[in-house]
Amino acid sequence: MANFDHIIVGGGIIGASAAYHLAREGAGSVLLLERNTLASAASSRAAGMVLQVSRNTTRTAMARQTRETIDVLVDELGADVGFHDVGSLRLAASDKCIAHLDAMAADAARHDIPFEWLDPQAAAELIPWLDPSLVRKVGFLPSDGYVDPYMLSMAYARAAAARGVEIRQGTAVTEVLTRNGRVVGVDTSAGRMESDSVIDAAGAWAALLSARVGYPLPMAPVRSHYWITKPNPTYGGDHPVITMPDVGAYARPDVGAILLGIHEPYSATFDARELPDDPAVFSPTVGEDHWDRLAEAAENIARFFPGIVEAQFPNYVAGLSTYTPDGKIILGSVPGLSGFLAASGCCGSGIVLSAGIGGTIADLALGRAPSIDIAPFRPDRFGPIDPFSVEFRDRCAASRANKSK
Ligand SMILES: Cc1cc2nc3c(=O)[nH]c(=O)nc-3n(C[C@H](O)[C@H](O)[C@H](O)COP(=O)(O)OP(=O)(O)OC[C@H]3O[C@@H](n4cnc5c(N)ncnc54)[C@H](O)[C@@H]3O)c2cc1C
Repeated sequence: MANFDHIIVGGGIIGASAAYHLAREGAGSVLLLERNTLASAASSRAAGMVLQVSRNTTRTAMARQTRETIDVLVDELGADVGFHDVGSLRLAASDKCIAHLDAMAADAARHDIPFEWLDPQAAAELIPWLDPSLVRKVGFLPSDGYVDPYMLSMAYARAAAARGVEIRQGTAVTEVLTRNGRVVGVDTSAGRMESDSVIDAAGAWAALLSARVGYPLPMAPVRSHYWITKPNPTYGGDHPVITMPDVGAYARPDVGAILLGIHEPYSATFDARELPDDPAVFSPTVGEDHWDRLAEAAENIARFFPGIVEAQFPNYVAGLSTYTPDGKIILGSVPGLSGFLAASGCCGSGIVLSAGIGGTIADLALGRAPSIDIAPFRPDRFGPIDPFSVEFRDRCAASRANKSK
């Protein structure tokens, strides 16, 4: 029977980053198991925004780690990882959003992340489609940008494999094995594998895996989606990513077009037990017209992007993010069991937090104190809940609606 020092379940960006960070720390034999193909679920559908600063200073520390790791991976692999260092702009038109932007400026300073105030007119020079007339304050973060999320996931996986991690695709974990209050291995579609360290990085299915050890994680699969316009020279070149919290929207360039995403007042949520194993056969927008969602948001977005009225959106991308009620990730041990670590509930930020999460989970798996305070991310922080219930899922959808507001 195969025996490993660490087994990671799930080959999305979080599992790949955990594998890379474990290997970088010389953690012994590491096995990464993915039942489909690497990065075939949420990690290839993301908008890929790398926005480092928030009002949550621990989150900022983790995001900054990702930004730094992107450069490390480029050096290590000697290859592009799909990062566009275009910077990001955050607009504020209301008192509330101005207060948030001021708090973010303070957090950027705390973490030594470059932050500049821009005149709204100067922002419009960077982004030709932007109408700045209602904008009162603009923050510019030149070291932000966006990344091809598939390329970054694969970069972690390739760098991990180069350091000796064994990656098996097409291998499903069907059971987590425990003995006397500790993990001892997993059963898979390719047989039993032993390890006293198992990491649950199973994305939208993470609560199903942890339910195998009697502790379904407090998170729910929530739909995220965006639209992409037709390319049009009036949209400008590879301009900064832009977030517009006043109207719950974000945008970034996409080869001459605009990728536009929204944080709806209510996002569709799903019972993880009813998801198929293969995300390729599932649409989170079944039975609903996604144009209705865009139309509902368009009037508000037109305050900053008047051209939305004539824009054509031939492309639509939807996927499942995982959210928690407080908008914070899940990171750490589940109660009453040693050797089982959860890394999930990324709240729509798994790409930008990938190195912070991977590095922290590697520290935990190696029994080291992580560099960040993980207490706010404890899996048991919500007390007894049923993560599959409609009531709990509604709380997770509400946390997506409030994201970045
Ligand atoms: C439309 C959209 C836009 C987004 N935009 C952004 C953004 O701009 N910036 C950002 O930071 N984040 C963004 N996100 C969120 C980001 O995509 C996720 O947080 C991140 O991809 C989660 O990675 P993951 O590895 O946890 O999950 P996934 O990528 O879903 O990977 C989980 C993997 O686990 C595998 N698995 C599950 N169960 C098993 C099992 N039993 N055995 C073996 N394998 C198993 C699955 O097959 C899957 O491949 C967006 C998400 C969506 C959907």
